[in-house]
Amino acid sequence: MQVRITVSFPYEAPVSQSLFDRASVVTPGGVNSPVRAFRAVGGTPRFMVSGTGPYLTDADGREYVDLVCSWGPMILGHAHPEVIAAVQETVARGTSFGTPGAGEVELAEEIVARIAPVEQVRLVSSGTEATMSAIRLARGFTGRAKVIKFAGCYHGHVDALLAAAGSGVATFGLPDTPGVTGAQAGDTIVLPYNDLAAVRAAFAAHEGEIACVITEASPGNMGVVPPLPGFNQGLADLCAENGALYISDEVMTGFRVSKAGWYGIDGVRPDLMTFGKVMGGGFPAAAFGGRADVMAHLAPAGPVYQAGTLSGNPIATAAGVAQLRLLDDAAYEKVDAVSAEVRGLVTEALAKEGVAHRLQVAGNMFSVFFTDAEVTDYETAKTQESFRFTAFFHSMLAQGVYLPPSAFESWFVSTAHDTAAVERIAAALPAAARAAAGATA
Ligand code: PLP
Repeated sequence: MQVRITVSFPYEAPVSQSLFDRASVVTPGGVNSPVRAFRAVGGTPRFMVSGTGPYLTDADGREYVDLVCSWGPMILGHAHPEVIAAVQETVARGTSFGTPGAGEVELAEEIVARIAPVEQVRLVSSGTEATMSAIRLARGFTGRAKVIKFAGCYHGHVDALLAAAGSGVATFGLPDTPGVTGAQAGDTIVLPYNDLAAVRAAFAAHEGEIACVITEASPGNMGVVPPLPGFNQGLADLCAENGALYISDEVMTGFRVSKAGWYGIDGVRPDLMTFGKVMGGGFPAAAFGGRADVMAHLAPAGPVYQAGTLSGNPIATAAGVAQLRLLDDAAYEKVDAVSAEVRGLVTEALAKEGVAHRLQVAGNMFSVFFTDAEVTDYETAKTQESFRFTAFFHSMLAQGVYLPPSAFESWFVSTAHDTAAVERIAAALPAAARAAAGATA
């Protein structure tokens, strides 16, 4: 994608730049996950060295209010003392045993206790592994091959699901990715989001062939685009009528938007669910789970193979259990309130400068689309004036507020975002709004 930067960079990040130069020699593009490279917004990616509460500090010693929160996991802020204590206590006893351990039982029990449709759960190490395994299980359980996914929904870099996959892929304008064969993607049916008629038509056209529908419970990977009323229930009903499984991907929303994730908000019961991010407390832990009769098909109980050397790692599970136990009703009330406050400030600043924009919200997740049209799917998401976001982003960064470096991402806040942090955001917004207003394509 051609990116035109409409702001200058009045500040420098020499240490980050030199780390990025070194990284670019030994790592493709200088990063280990593409969106970190700032390609959508230009400039030097900040190399962070520490985080405390709502703040991050980069290698040049500059402090930022963090509105990315590690893309969701850090819902209690950085280096929460109780999470750090649980990790320190656990790590001193060893780092990995390759045997079952008490921590994984505790984490599984926490998940099952919070989310009614999850009768059994299997722990893995990344959201990608969770969705990949859930799809294999759905295919193994139904004996069918085809999978329905929605344009703009991202489910990790699973071969079969890297079609019209939102943010990272959207950022680079790649409709598909080289390296995924026709055979791998051939059983994937990509439909427009929020379009039940299209799902109905696909079931009719492929009778008895569709193993599952996978959807983000409330998408955050094309920016925040919540399901229209009745959409998730419609998917569940169509799956039930057609003998397919309904897989709700809650890697982003799970344990973030409520104690029971998006399920806690819309109450639509999936057959299988996937989780990651918040449940690992900042460590690599993820999971898939759901109906016990479906999960019983998983090895060693059943024939569908799935495994992992570091699955249920003791440190990751200790961090996850500590974080989940701290996430009571008061914690979600706090995150919801901070989210509402920041949204109000953003709207106020942009409206004052006459910048067309739309804030879309899913629980405490939100994103700003630079358009005044309602965004209901990936096509409408792509009509926003993302060059305005570029100017807005750099102005906020220069003033010490770290936003996601792409217009197609959710913003995240935490319980640690206190009055001082919100005041810093408020102070930065007027200039950023002016930069957005003055930006040209
Ligand atoms: N599913 C959703 C909804 C996600 O947002 C992500 C990551 O952003 C994934 C799956 C993949 O998770 P991971 O990056 O841990 O592989």
